[in-house]
Amino acid sequence: MPTISSKQELLAVYGGTPVRKTLLPYGRQSIGEDDIQAVVDVLRSDWLTTGPKVGEFEEAFAAWVGAKYAVSFSSGTAALHGAAFAAGLEPGDEAITTPMTFAATANCVLYQGATPVFADVSADTLNLDPEQVAPRITSRTRAILPVDYAGHPAELDAILDVAARHGLVVIEDASHALGAEYRQRRVGSIAHMTVFSFHPVKHLATGEGGMVTTDRADYAESLRRFRNHGISSDARQRQADGQWHYEMVLLGFNYRLTDIACALGVSQLKKLEANLLRRREIAARYSMEFSGLEGVMPPAVRADVNPAWHLYPIRLNLEKLTADRRQVFRALRAENIGVNVHYIPVHRHPYYRDRFGYLGGEYPIAEDAYERLISLPMFHGMSDEDIADVVRALQKVIHHFAK
Ligand SMILES: *Cc1c(COP(=O)(O)O)cnc(C)c1O
Repeated sequence: MPTISSKQELLAVYGGTPVRKTLLPYGRQSIGEDDIQAVVDVLRSDWLTTGPKVGEFEEAFAAWVGAKYAVSFSSGTAALHGAAFAAGLEPGDEAITTPMTFAATANCVLYQGATPVFADVSADTLNLDPEQVAPRITSRTRAILPVDYAGHPAELDAILDVAARHGLVVIEDASHALGAEYRQRRVGSIAHMTVFSFHPVKHLATGEGGMVTTDRADYAESLRRFRNHGISSDARQRQADGQWHYEMVLLGFNYRLTDIACALGVSQLKKLEANLLRRREIAARYSMEFSGLEGVMPPAVRADVNPAWHLYPIRLNLEKLTADRRQVFRALRAENIGVNVHYIPVHRHPYYRDRFGYLGGEYPIAEDAYERLISLPMFHGMSDEDIADVVRALQKVIHHFAK
């Protein structure tokens, strides 16, 4: 039950004083002087694009996640496209993925002329439910694309199991999950290919940027060609045929990540442990504060994982509130808490609706979650004061709308 005093506190959305004077974003990068210096050093060097920093970043990244190979891309989306290509997706094929993600996860299947098939999520983690995957496998299925929603690893063992039984490739979209652990192993070393994004709201920022990690040499080679116009990178052959010679062996793209971005990546990678530690601290504090707040469901954490906490998505217990998600969202924004919603289920976007004829109701767990979700601010540069503001604002708003 709300206390009298909290009921009396006028919400900013109705003209009251906001909890904060300035808007706290839901996510943002942390750039230090060391990062700036690393970029400046590249600008003074001989290389702007593919130079020594690309290999340095890829090697450091592969070592960090525990994979044999890491291949950088100009964005997480380009990296997904590369992985879909390397997995051999082509027209007529299908790939099974989750609707609870950013559209790029499914779009990469379409880029290859293949068809994304959605399967519903588990109610606790909102990750692809392996039980829902199996019945959607057909003779055309070639890949499964789980997403580590909010940074909580997907059910990788169960998904790899299903994949092994049917000869499918598992491409894990770990854009949220750099540094997450699944059964004592780091994400990036588990699926056949794992994709990361270095967009500024993610754990490691290079402006735009992405990476695919894999233990398979053939995938790594295919990824390298695909990001560089389909040009074969066999240096020995080039040596034998003369320095001018190169061969385009498949239709690729220019998806290369620059030396400038990779220098920033190398520098940011050194601070990843501290970043993760802070995110886990923030999540623990939120979960403790909200455990007794009726009307709010903090995100679930399964026993065998250590999430990376890209997002902290709460779900509203609408049955205990007099307001819907839109009203709660607007009230929090008015308190200057930069909340967001992750995600509008992909099949609900007009493009997917119109192209594939989704009517709504196909994926009830994802769709129900969508009506309740609100992402609270979560980034490693948040101060204790910022955290306290989020807690106060959510308590204020939820108490106001409590039944
Ligand atoms: C950020 C993100 C991407 C795309 O990454 P970009 O680097 O912005 O292209 C893909 N999938 C998910 C789940 C993401 O959060």
